[in-house]
Amino acid sequence: MSTEIKAYGARDKTADLEPMTIKRREVGPKDVKIEITYCGVCHSDIHQVRNDWKNSVYPVVPGHEIIGHVVAVGKDVKKFKEGQLVGVGCMVDSCRECSACKDDLEQYCENGMVPTYNGKDKHLGGHTFGGYSEMVVVDQDFVLTIPDNLDQKAVAPLLCAGITTFSPLNHWGVKEGDKVGIIGLGGLGHMGIKFANAMGAHVVMITTSPDKAKDAKRLGAHEVLISKDEEAMKEHTGSFDFLLNTVPVGHDINPYINLLKRDATMVLVGAIEPLDAVHGGGLVMGRKRVAGSLIGGIAETQEMLDFCGEHNIVSDVEIINMDNINEAYDRVTSSDVKYRFVIDMNSLKN
Ligand code: NAP
Ligand code: ZN
Ligand code: ZN
Repeated sequence: MSTEIKAYGARDKTADLEPMTIKRREVGPKDVKIEITYCGVCHSDIHQVRNDWKNSVYPVVPGHEIIGHVVAVGKDVKKFKEGQLVGVGCMVDSCRECSACKDDLEQYCENGMVPTYNGKDKHLGGHTFGGYSEMVVVDQDFVLTIPDNLDQKAVAPLLCAGITTFSPLNHWGVKEGDKVGIIGLGGLGHMGIKFANAMGAHVVMITTSPDKAKDAKRLGAHEVLISKDEEAMKEHTGSFDFLLNTVPVGHDINPYINLLKRDATMVLVGAIEPLDAVHGGGLVMGRKRVAGSLIGGIAETQEMLDFCGEHNIVSDVEIINMDNINEAYDRVTSSDVKYRFVIDMNSLKN
C-alpha cells in the first residue's frame, strides 16, 4: 500500500530537476508521517544528481535537510504527536544491531545505513526519495525534535550542514581558546564558524573568496585567511589546533597540513573523492593527522539541535521556490551561496 505524492527530481545525471510523482508508504506502527514545510539544498544533493560519487540511482529526488509537521503517527509512536514540528536528516534507517548502531553512530552502520534518498527502500522496494517532496514517512527513531524557539526555515540546514560540522568539532573536543580554522565558506563552513565560535574557539575562516571576509566576521570568525595568499598562509604556519575542511572537491591539502600545530588534526568532510598526493613529510614532521567524518548519529544530531536551541543558532538562508532549484544548483556550484538555499515546499503544491 502506498500514496502518490508530488516531488522534484532528476531523471539522469545531465538532466535538470523537474516535477515528478513518487510513492510513499502507508504509516506503519512505528512511523511518523511528515508534511514537509522546508527543505535545505546541500552540495551533496548536487553531487548525487550529477552522479559525482558513481552510485546514483535515477530518478534522484534529493533533500536531506527536512523540516515539517507531523500529520499522522503509527500506533506505537509515543515520542511524537500530530502538529509537532520535526526534522529528518541524512538517514532514515539502520540495522540497530551492529557495534556502530549500538554506539549511537548509525551513520557508520556496518550493515549500511539507509540514506534519506538514493538508499535501498526496505518497505516499497526500489530506492528512497528525499525531501524535495510534499511529505515523507519515517521510522520514529530517525525523526528529530526541533527546539521551538528557532525559526523553522533556518533550522532545516542544521539537519545536515549543522550536524556535519558540529560532530567533528565535538568529537575532537574543540574547546575555549583553541585556534580553529574552517576551510570553505558555504553551507557547511558557515555552520562550522557558528559552532566553533559558540564553543569558545578563536575562529579563522580560511577561504578562496576575499569578498566573503566581511560575512565571515559577521558569522563569528575572528580572523579571515585567504588561502591563495601564500604570504598570509606562511604567517599562520604551525599555529592551528584544529582544521575543519569542507572543500567539496578533491584538492591539494598539503598547504593546510602546514597550518597544523604538532599533534593537531585536520578533519575532511567535503571531498568524498581522491585528493591530490599528500607529502608524507608534512604529516611526519609534527605527528600531524588527517581524518574524516560523516554527518553524526541520531543522538548527537538531537544534541546539536538542543545546543542550537540554547545558543540561538540557525543557518543564514536564502528561501527559494521549488522551480528555482536548477538556478540555485548553478549558484552553489560556483560558490555563490549565502549561505544555504532552503526550498519553501509550499511552492511545490501550487
Ligand atoms: P558549498 O555550500 O558549495 O560550500 C563549499 C565551499 O567550499 C564553497 O563555498 C567555497 O568556499 C569552497 N570551495 C569550493 N570549491 C573549492 C575549491 N575547488 N577549492 C577550495 N575551496 C573551494 O557546499 P556544502 O553544502 O557546504 O558542502 C561541502 C561538501 O561537503 C560537499 O562536497 C558535500 O557533498 C559534503 N558534505 C559532506 C558531509 C559529510 O557527512 N561528510 C555532509 C554534508 C555535505 P570559499 O568561497 O569560502 O572558498
Ligand atoms: Zn547534506
Ligand atoms: Zn548497524
